[in-house]
Amino acid sequence: MTASPIWHPFTQHGRGEPIPQVARAEGAILHTADGRRIVDAISSWWVTTHGHCHPRIMAAIAEQAGKLDQIIFAGWTHEPAEAVARGLRQLMPDELTRVFFSDSGSTSVEVALKMALGFWANTERSRHKILVLEHAYHGDTVGAMSVGARGVFNAAYSPLLFDVETLPFPHGDGAATLEKLTALCRDEPAALIVEPLICGAGGMKIYDAAILADMRRICSAHEVLFIADEVMTGWGRTGTLLACEQAGIVPDILCLSKGLTGGAVPLAVTMATEAIFAAHLSQDRARMFFHSSSYTANPLACAAAAANIAIWQEEPVLERIARLAENQARLLEKLAHNPRVRNARRAGTITAFEIEDQRGGYLSDLGPRLLSRFREADLLLRPLGNTVYTMPPYCISDEDLALIYDGIAETVAHC
Ligand SMILES: *Cc1c(COP(=O)(O)O)cnc(C)c1O
Repeated sequence: MTASPIWHPFTQHGRGEPIPQVARAEGAILHTADGRRIVDAISSWWVTTHGHCHPRIMAAIAEQAGKLDQIIFAGWTHEPAEAVARGLRQLMPDELTRVFFSDSGSTSVEVALKMALGFWANTERSRHKILVLEHAYHGDTVGAMSVGARGVFNAAYSPLLFDVETLPFPHGDGAATLEKLTALCRDEPAALIVEPLICGAGGMKIYDAAILADMRRICSAHEVLFIADEVMTGWGRTGTLLACEQAGIVPDILCLSKGLTGGAVPLAVTMATEAIFAAHLSQDRARMFFHSSSYTANPLACAAAAANIAIWQEEPVLERIARLAENQARLLEKLAHNPRVRNARRAGTITAFEIEDQRGGYLSDLGPRLLSRFREADLLLRPLGNTVYTMPPYCISDEDLALIYDGIAETVAHC
């Protein structure tokens, strides 16, 4: 067999790990080219919400493919984009009046940061510092890396990353976080960016909704823009459509991607309040929002997103999520009796725990060992170091969910 020329993301090719080839997928199940049936326990890296190849979303893409494939979006529009924007205005908080399209979670974050800086520049007030949370992850482009946790992932690029101020992760009542936020707000930063309720890639670290609400309140009091990166938490992952709902808050800027198309094709939006849009509104072309990418609001991707929004509006998605969350809670509780399972926790459809490991850290060799064991057990699970988590598509059957937890229990016992 000739080696593939593909350079995979987050993959150390030098380790020679097998790279399974997936031929087709349906619901929560992947079928490999060599005939294996794999349970997708992490929604193909947190994107698939209603299930793979959802008939309604696939049909919407196919129908759109017969009409309009791609069109410049600077100064032009099309019905699928208008449908998505209308749908988002119905589903998302009223205060978020404007919808800016892009094509990935990282890009939606770059756009959010540029909107925040643009807001301050256009209101002739010099604010540019960004506040971030410890353990944050906001994507892999340079701006998104700058507002994310520093570590082995981005050490080589650190000379390019801009300075931010980091709040300690909110443990317990979050007093240290809120205190530091209040102190930093006195220096008039531009914005705070957070992953609401749970820092995902930073280790599925969960914090209290009341702290999220307090962070929002402190930012408002100091006119610091509040950016919610709901790229992972949005679309029901934490049990509500948005994680921010659980804190009863509305951000100034909201980033959505991953589940926006049900996880079928790439698309992102950054939603903003009227004040942020208005700061860019002028006869002066120098004040426009200077951002675009070639495939902004691609019609095929928008058709998928419009279908996803229709599913949310017409089907009992939140009931499915509540049922999945309950089933997971039960299975996690059983697993938590294992003496090597530490800090079992959950938020909506996400469960996570640490496996006791002497060496610790992302580069501990437990991670790769777990990965290959899970692969051998026909499970798509991808631990973050010694943190194992599940985040299945909402349509997963009780039987397949049980397979995931049986596989995890087996692996924990023998790893
Ligand atoms: C995945 C993720 C991103 C990056 O999204 P991409 O589509 O991979 O660029 C940004 N923020 C959060 C919270 C994420 O989980």
